[in-house]
Amino acid sequence: MTFRDLKAQYHALEADIDKSIKEVLNSSAFILGKPVQELEKELADYVGVEHCVSCGNGTDALQLVLMAWGIGKGDAVFTSDFTYFASAGAASVLGASPVLVDIDLNTFNMDPADLERKIIKTLGEGKLVPKVIIPVDLFGQPAQHHEIQDIADKYGMKVLEDGAQGFGGTIKGRRACSFGDAATTSFFPAKPLGCYGDGGAVFTNNDDLAETLQSLRAQGRSSEDKYDNRAIGINSRLDTLQAAILKVKLNAFKRYELINVNKAAEMYTERLKEIVKTPVVLSGHISSWAQYTIRLENREQRDVVQKALKEKDIPSMIYYPRAIHRQTAYADFGFKDEDYKNTMEAVETVLSLPMHPYLEEKDIEYISQNLKEAVKK
Ligand SMILES: *Cc1c(COP(=O)(O)O)cnc(C)c1O
Repeated sequence: MTFRDLKAQYHALEADIDKSIKEVLNSSAFILGKPVQELEKELADYVGVEHCVSCGNGTDALQLVLMAWGIGKGDAVFTSDFTYFASAGAASVLGASPVLVDIDLNTFNMDPADLERKIIKTLGEGKLVPKVIIPVDLFGQPAQHHEIQDIADKYGMKVLEDGAQGFGGTIKGRRACSFGDAATTSFFPAKPLGCYGDGGAVFTNNDDLAETLQSLRAQGRSSEDKYDNRAIGINSRLDTLQAAILKVKLNAFKRYELINVNKAAEMYTERLKEIVKTPVVLSGHISSWAQYTIRLENREQRDVVQKALKEKDIPSMIYYPRAIHRQTAYADFGFKDEDYKNTMEAVETVLSLPMHPYLEEKDIEYISQNLKEAVKK
């Protein structure tokens, strides 16, 4: 059994993917070829925003927006303590200071109440200027964007939604990657919409920001003269080959993949809800199930269960085994465990089960049965 069955997906879409790849090979337009612009248009339409600017990966996408906003030394960028490193690292790389926010244990997403506490604390210390909030749509569920936007408005801050895992999710019909002033996603192969290598994108309704991003992803070049650079940018483009692959995959995502992962999640929850803490999806929210993550009683039980599953050829993963505030790179930042109680508990108790659109009911049954037995041990 595989954790995320990318081979099953390829075989389901093989003829179309092979055809798309061949078209690119025949065109030789490997850099910013036609499929890139076509995909950007399709993605913007799907998400429901004016602009999609694709780039090299989801980390660059975050960094490009922060660069466009001029974020740097002395600026505080607030993000979740329980996420992939890039959500915080993108700020650090520009010299800004990440301020980490504890999570809500039910959703694993940034706790809006703790966000406001940390903003007030930062203002009180008077060393950093609160500039940006990066809420993360962890495991596929959109963060509490409405509450977070209210806080951003109150303190005059910008919001950058990290939708790397959230693509496809919704809050009351509004799609992930459409919240805040800008949003980003990643097309890393294991994400809800993945390509066959690295890729990423920024989404925004702001015309000026979209134009700036197009320049910054091409070294900061001027729109009038390609040999004049008006700003210092980076080189970060989505390959035409990846765009061509993503067009096929986006179609499958829209037609049935998102539906299938939601069915799979329902089947898991039905079987597991009396046995372990199953994922909580807030009312009005729909997840795109980047992960199906349960919680066990404690680290000991979690590790026993993971081992027992492994013996039955059932892969599982621990996302994430280490909080951001515990990263060695942040050892001198003065973060304290007691400010991150929920993240500390999540790190000890989470376990992600196989999840993808091609998972069959018999697999879910097998996993659930073995999980039940492992928990009883
Ligand atoms: C994967 C991921 C990223 C980074 O995406 P890459 O394409 O790997 O650079 C950023 N944030 C979150 C939450 C992610 O899961």
